[in-house]
Amino acid sequence: MSFDLNTLDLAALGVEAFLTAEPSNVRYLTGFTGSNGLVVLEGGRMTLFTDPRYTIQAAAEYSGPVEVITRGGLPLAAAKLITRRKLRKVGFEKNRLSYAGHAALTAALDKKAELVALDDVIETRRMVKTPEEIAKIRRSVNLNSQAYLRALQRFRPAMTEAALAAEIDYQMRRLGAEGPAFDTIVASGARTAFPHAHPEAKPIQPNQLLLVDMGAMVDGYASDMTRTLAVGKVSGTLKRMYAAVLEAQLAAIARVKPGVSGGQIDRAAREVLKGHGLDQEFVHSTGHGLGLEIHEGPRLGKSEKRKLEAGMVITIEPGVYRAGVGGVRIEDTVLVTATGPEVLTPTSKELMSI
Ligand code: ZN
Ligand code: ZN
Repeated sequence: MSFDLNTLDLAALGVEAFLTAEPSNVRYLTGFTGSNGLVVLEGGRMTLFTDPRYTIQAAAEYSGPVEVITRGGLPLAAAKLITRRKLRKVGFEKNRLSYAGHAALTAALDKKAELVALDDVIETRRMVKTPEEIAKIRRSVNLNSQAYLRALQRFRPAMTEAALAAEIDYQMRRLGAEGPAFDTIVASGARTAFPHAHPEAKPIQPNQLLLVDMGAMVDGYASDMTRTLAVGKVSGTLKRMYAAVLEAQLAAIARVKPGVSGGQIDRAAREVLKGHGLDQEFVHSTGHGLGLEIHEGPRLGKSEKRKLEAGMVITIEPGVYRAGVGGVRIEDTVLVTATGPEVLTPTSKELMSI
């Protein structure tokens, strides 16, 4: 299924054409999943450019016009189409097009044409998911949670962080994922205080925390979950930290509703942590949207004014990190419905001991 062109008003954006070569946007617009694609949108028409490796795949995935380019590159071919159609104002994605890509387009376009820098044209659409997209995210979330449980069943004392991360990735693929949505995070002991620790070839020691942040890619859609566990017994300080983060996470989830801003959700988590004297140790934002990419809009950060809408899929993931002691993060994937939050992640949030 491809994008309904009638829903994008180019004139309102001040352009006659719009182009993107960002794979997630190309996929969103056309359904084409290849790594090298460029889409030109003009009034009522969307042309996909790709190279000969993708001739068969592009025709199978996109029913609109496809141009397979053997020489000169996709930007040059797109510029030729734009010149042929006498389109003057051409929108491009300022966050996505490289300097070199912009230079190539400028050189290839007719002198009368003008490149217009635009922001998040497709990304804004992508924030609110269609029912088909929500179904894919649900599958991704469920598969991810299943892979987590399977990997934990294979946990053995003195297993390394790297081995557990590899087991997680293996289980995802065995269950049908295309792969992890990002580099799986497994951190133990004091390293749990690094929010984005890379797994090391170091044995996981007893009586400390273990933090796992993982997501799967299923049918092009990401999931994202963090769980913090106790390996054996952990101190009262760490248990209290866990209870506070869970309370903050539940408070933020409870605030999820259309019309509430990302900043308000973030504040809900921060206020709970402040009550426990832990807000200074919460060093990132409360969450983010996800979909074709692991990080999408909306952002759930301090000054975020954008309001939630039904159909958005977000993460809620407060965390507390203390140098030399450890960190706790708890993250679920949550669907915004007309009446409030639906937590998609089925995995328990009780502090589990392995
Ligand atoms: Zn995560
Ligand atoms: Zn996340």
